[in-house]
Amino acid sequence: MDPDYIQLAKDTEICKNCKNIVVGKGNPNAEIMFVGEAPGRNEDEQGLPFVGAAGKNLDKFLDKVGLSMNEIYVVNILKCRPPENRNPLPEEIKAHTPWLIEQIKQIKPKVICSLGNYSTKFFLADGNIDVMDKMPGITQIHGKIKIIDFHGLKIKLIPLFHPAAIIYNRNLMSLWESDMEIVKAEIEQKKLF
Ligand code: URA
Repeated sequence: MDPDYIQLAKDTEICKNCKNIVVGKGNPNAEIMFVGEAPGRNEDEQGLPFVGAAGKNLDKFLDKVGLSMNEIYVVNILKCRPPENRNPLPEEIKAHTPWLIEQIKQIKPKVICSLGNYSTKFFLADGNIDVMDKMPGITQIHGKIKIIDFHGLKIKLIPLFHPAAIIYNRNLMSLWESDMEIVKAEIEQKKLF
């Protein structure tokens, strides 16, 4: 039998209707986690996060900051694709994030790069979905590092634009690139110790 946090996600409609549950990819012992929003069509087909167009942008980002897939772990807020890639619903976030929390407790990352509004607001709200709406948006706080205490773990949160947002809004490119420098500086600092 599945643990409760898996069953809770599996009981949602999106999980009953998806092709694959997208758990994560990368190194489960990594110190850096990237947390996106939800699987899209390609991710649903392949059962892996960030393998479509947004994934290509994420790969470019990782390449620029000098991170390999072996140094990171990549997950999403939702484990299953919402129909037509619509935004996650609060009840879906409530049902799927106990699994994410479990992943974070097991991996114990030192750094979390939250990708986009949903992921960033989830961490800023300390996992309290009912107050996510009241948290500042990504436009306001991208690139601003915040130390959070998440389920007893001290984590450096680095909010970043969602890699798909760069595709739709080319004006974000220069901000996205300056955020890369912030991540790069963090990583270089960590590698020194
Ligand atoms: N967008 C996300 O947030 N996650 C994915 O895995 C793919 C696209």
